[in-house]
Amino acid sequence: MTLDIARIRKDFPILDQKVYNKPLIYFDSAASSQKPMQVLKKEEQLHLEYYGNIHRGAHFLADKATIEYEAVRDQLKAFINAPNREEIIFTKGTTESINLVAFSFGEAFIGEGDEIIVSEMEHHANIVPWQMVAGRKGAKIRVLPFEDNGRLMIEKLDELINPKTKLIAVAHVANTLGTINPVKQIIAKAHAAGVKVLVDGAQAVKHLPVDVQDMDTDFYVFSAHKMYGPNGVGVLYGRKELLEQMPPYQGGGEMISEVSFEKTIYNDLPYKFEAGTPHITGVVAFGEAIKYLENLGVAEVAEYEHKLLAYATKKLMEIPGMIIYGTQDEKSGVITFNIEGIHSFDISTMLDKMGVAVRSGRLCADTVMQHYNVTGTIRASFAVYNTFEEIDQFIAALKKLVMMLS
Ligand code: PMP
Repeated sequence: MTLDIARIRKDFPILDQKVYNKPLIYFDSAASSQKPMQVLKKEEQLHLEYYGNIHRGAHFLADKATIEYEAVRDQLKAFINAPNREEIIFTKGTTESINLVAFSFGEAFIGEGDEIIVSEMEHHANIVPWQMVAGRKGAKIRVLPFEDNGRLMIEKLDELINPKTKLIAVAHVANTLGTINPVKQIIAKAHAAGVKVLVDGAQAVKHLPVDVQDMDTDFYVFSAHKMYGPNGVGVLYGRKELLEQMPPYQGGGEMISEVSFEKTIYNDLPYKFEAGTPHITGVVAFGEAIKYLENLGVAEVAEYEHKLLAYATKKLMEIPGMIIYGTQDEKSGVITFNIEGIHSFDISTMLDKMGVAVRSGRLCADTVMQHYNVTGTIRASFAVYNTFEEIDQFIAALKKLVMMLS
């Protein structure tokens, strides 16, 4: 099936506008994607028709909201092929999902002298929580490096993994380099040594079909706002037998089955990890985003975005002084670059004035910046609503500003 991009764009009214009197070109979907009307309408419908606090069973509105909220858990179970619905934990995003695992897995399984392997290409969200748990527990962070072309040196795992290693934290798709990491291979190596793995899927779920059982991962985390859903909602998939052994991350309502001053009994999964009132409307609208993506077809979307990426890469290479960070064939969604002799901030500011929204700076990935010894970069990232014409306009804008600035 070929995607009808003109029709898809109609679902995203925000794209149909001018900024600084220029047609908007939104190339920042890796930071946050725009939301289709279907998602926005669902959130509004819930607010207008049946908003109530969930899981209290108190009245009609609360019951209806609960049914819809829990249905999204089933949708997500199917979307990533999780074995059990109670392995899907709602959080406020990838960052919270990783912090939850770092804290709770850390409490249960990480001790003095243990080691956690983190790849060099991680977003800060998949580095700092591990540093925090390492600091608290007296554990050590070991780094899995990447080559200049953006390939993760997974063969180094043979040297890095030892009896002290407890967990490997790695991105499925790196937010700067776009590299699609061979997570299945990494997990197989880890499991052979009894090591657990957390895969950060924030940049992957919208671009690739994800199957947590086929991957055999222990934890998989992602955010709704990067996959056409609302912000403030995320997912932690965790293997049941691990989640059951991990203590709660936060205490409060919902995560308990009984409280007294003598003894509190925690609730079962998934509620043990969902303390307090969650982002009810966000979760329900997230269900609509998944439906939207599934109706388009994740594989079809991936194929289209791959064509956009290949086309943009080829065109960018025509610009003198172009440096692209991350040039793996197995790559998705983003192109991070610099142009020799021009500051990344100047490029992004001028692109903005020309209507092109890109990300610039350190991209929440200081270790990647340090690898290339740069203080900043520009990142263009694509989603299903972007077009080849937009890429042509982006390239024309870049060529113009290179003429002006160099
Ligand atoms: N990991 C990766 C790979 C990301 O790209 C991002 C978002 N930039 C995050 C984690 C953090 O996601 P969030 O801000 O939604 O928690």
